[in-house]
Amino acid sequence: MKIAVCVKQVPDTPAKRMNRQTNRLDRSGEGALNPFDTQAVEEALRLKEAEGPGEVVLVSMGPPTAGDAMRKALAMGADRAILITDEAAAGSDLVATSRALAAALERESPDLVLFGQYAADSEGAVLWAAVAERLRRPMISQVAELTVDNGSVTGRRQTEFGYDVIRAPLPAVVAVSDAINEPRYPSLKGIMGAKRKPQDTLSLGDLGLEAAQAGEQGSRTTVLALHDPPPRGESRTIEDDGGAADEIVEFLAEKRLL
Ligand SMILES: Cc1cc2nc3c(=O)[nH]c(=O)nc-3n(C[C@H](O)[C@H](O)[C@H](O)COP(=O)(O)OP(=O)(O)OC[C@H]3O[C@@H](n4cnc5c(N)ncnc54)[C@H](O)[C@@H]3O)c2cc1C
Repeated sequence: MKIAVCVKQVPDTPAKRMNRQTNRLDRSGEGALNPFDTQAVEEALRLKEAEGPGEVVLVSMGPPTAGDAMRKALAMGADRAILITDEAAAGSDLVATSRALAAALERESPDLVLFGQYAADSEGAVLWAAVAERLRRPMISQVAELTVDNGSVTGRRQTEFGYDVIRAPLPAVVAVSDAINEPRYPSLKGIMGAKRKPQDTLSLGDLGLEAAQAGEQGSRTTVLALHDPPPRGESRTIEDDGGAADEIVEFLAEKRLL
């Protein structure tokens, strides 16, 4: 089975910085593999190990340094990596990013495309749906348990009200939840071997895309302004000396929230 895993390089810092000139997230500085994507990689490796011969291909769009983040996934055990990188792609929004990723995935034509839950920098949790739509493939999101059987994929997904079990024919797109597995650590052998694994770089042109189909030109959204969040209003701290529950009920009743 051929499995493609979409992975993103994100800034290696929990604090998000905005660039006030471009109104974009400041992605400068050290980058790292999006932590949620390591779970998609782990799941792909487990499927490959269970299903026998196959291939795990990483696909990413980002600056040339995104290749460093992809190496961690290669060290975990993925077979090869494809990085879409092109100056004209800078500033791509969801629409433009999904267009480029879908074009690369179409070329690879995998049986299964895996995504992480969301990207830790933009937190959209939506790219997988856009890519599935472009590929015209069924998709299952928030999958906490994944099985592949007889040409179909079954995902158990946790919802507010319990569990859904969804089956879809392959080829399909699946976004895993952060409850699906505990990703392995790359071994020393894996880290050394990662350097020798094939890592291809594609431009937009290689994918048959025009520069105007990516970057700001190919995007459908524009960030018009950025504002700091408004200061918090008047707050009241309730110390629990045994009567906190009553005080909270009283407070909510005062605000007519009960
Ligand atoms: C006006 C505008 C300009 C932007 N400019 C840039 C920019 O210059 N550079 C930039 O990086 N982002 C840019 N973005 C953000 C970019 O559009 C999002 O990163 C992208 O749409 C994915 O959304 P997300 O990061 O919220 O991912 P999510 O939807 O949260 O990601 C879900 C999953 O999709 C996969 N994934 C996400 N992004 C990628 C990727 N790039 N390659 C492979 N797999 C991926 C991962 O598996 C991830 O776990 C811009 C957004 C806007 C609105």
